[in-house]
Amino acid sequence: MVVLAEKIRLCYDGLSNERGKQKEDFLVRITFLGGARTVTGSSFLISTSHGNLMVDCGMFQGRRDLVRRNYLEAMYDPRDVDAVVLTHAHIDHSGLIPKLVREGFRGSIWATKATADLCELMLLDSAHIQEMESEWMTKRNLRRGEEPVTPIYTVEDAKRCLGSFSRVYYDEEFEPIPGFRVIYRDAGHIIGSAIVEIWVTEEGTEKKIVFSGDLGVADQPIIRDPSVVTGADYLFIESTYGNRLHRTKEESRDEFREAILETTARGGKVVIPSFAVGRTQEMLYYLGEFAREGVLPDIPIYVDSPMATSATKIVKENPQCFDSETHALLTAGKTPLTPPNLTFTRSTDESIAINRKPGPAVVISASGMCTAGRIKHHLRHNLWRPEASVIFVGYQAEGTLGRLIVGGAERVRILGEDVQVNAKVYTIGGFSAHADRNELIAWASHFRGSAPYCFVVHGEERASLAFRDALERELNFQAYVPRWGESVSVALDGTVESLSITEPGERIALEGSRTEKDLFFIRDRIDRLLEEGAYTDETAFYERVRQIKKLVQDLKGVSVVE
Ligand SMILES: [Zn+2]
Ligand SMILES: [Zn+2]
Repeated sequence: MVVLAEKIRLCYDGLSNERGKQKEDFLVRITFLGGARTVTGSSFLISTSHGNLMVDCGMFQGRRDLVRRNYLEAMYDPRDVDAVVLTHAHIDHSGLIPKLVREGFRGSIWATKATADLCELMLLDSAHIQEMESEWMTKRNLRRGEEPVTPIYTVEDAKRCLGSFSRVYYDEEFEPIPGFRVIYRDAGHIIGSAIVEIWVTEEGTEKKIVFSGDLGVADQPIIRDPSVVTGADYLFIESTYGNRLHRTKEESRDEFREAILETTARGGKVVIPSFAVGRTQEMLYYLGEFAREGVLPDIPIYVDSPMATSATKIVKENPQCFDSETHALLTAGKTPLTPPNLTFTRSTDESIAINRKPGPAVVISASGMCTAGRIKHHLRHNLWRPEASVIFVGYQAEGTLGRLIVGGAERVRILGEDVQVNAKVYTIGGFSAHADRNELIAWASHFRGSAPYCFVVHGEERASLAFRDALERELNFQAYVPRWGESVSVALDGTVESLSITEPGERIALEGSRTEKDLFFIRDRIDRLLEEGAYTDETAFYERVRQIKKLVQDLKGVSVVE
């Protein structure tokens, strides 16, 4: 056995010489590909000599100059990314995965099971939207004598990437790339959402990086509260509400109940524009709770959105994510996501029939900001009726129909018709799925013992800068607000310095060629073989050594030490 071990060690040395070539003076390089001074487009690349790990691969949304970034060539060669770790399924975190795969990424995409299940639904939907939008833009461009537009990705691309998902569970360690250990913890934001703990080992030094992901609030129904995590060398923390506070869930729940009772008493319909994933299920949970408390009137409830219907099904299929209250209800034979008189409508005919039926009803429909989908029909039918009401339970971005109504418009244009706003409009601000400023600080305070260096991400510039100041002032942490395309390095001594900013259209040279990285991967495997001492059978052992050498030769044409 000594001879065998010696043989393989020579092989190993041959590879480690290769490795010596690219020894660098920094430990980890971090590149901010999105979610830097913006809420959307979350994507961060962590590079060590072991490889490149991408955390989130989100789409930019909202302002036109942001959306344009989705069409640009990636700042890196997608073939150099070795694995993706997703925090959760929202499109601003997962939406560019089909593009990454289309452009040559061949690694695994790691996600909690619920996140992977939701991604199947959401990425196909997003691809469908991309196809429709590019078709529309192409028509417009051709009329102007301009070039046609290719979609960012197609439904085919989205289908192809679904095969690369690896499903894991909370609190379970996994290794997406050798040299990177990862554990997901509950983030309490939407079902499957995770805080990510990452340990990277380089030059015999281990550093811990924590990503808050989108951090939820305590007492969110259905899912568990955000986990308390302690200890980090580097902390990536979101700052969506880094400069704002919101009302409590309890107050919002009461406002929601009162709005329903008032409208029902007037005999009107309650129209609720709601995001299909997360908010819709939360509303169903509260309606069920009102029914159990005996305060919900006996009226029909409709979920009129195919997407929301599918999302609700996925939530029900992932009970491992439920909190103890939801488990207790299930054990008691209750159906927490199915209030009485609930109907999920799939077909257009069923949708139209809702407004033909007189009398009060609750209609939950998408999209959440009233920009598309069946909600527009429900608004056209009900907005002019003084007995009806519209309850806004989510954020309404500028420029959307929802924002106009919330802002007090007397008349709005819907599906080519002017509609008078006579219905009562309720805006309930406290249903946010994001921690507010104080909750973020409270969560970050658990890291006090390790005094991490903080990267403040996922926020509008003003919110991120304000939150950076709060971290410095209140917790005495060093904090930095990175820019889009910026690369920073963590030196061997742990200090952080900015390396460069990649301009749009430029490409970041990721350290180490593909071949070299593959060599490291093989070296790592040899390491493991040696550690495991798995080969007592000589023939099998030599066979394995031959396989590995062949792999090395194929990759580089190098002659490995015999
Ligand atoms: Zn999110
Ligand atoms: Zn987000």
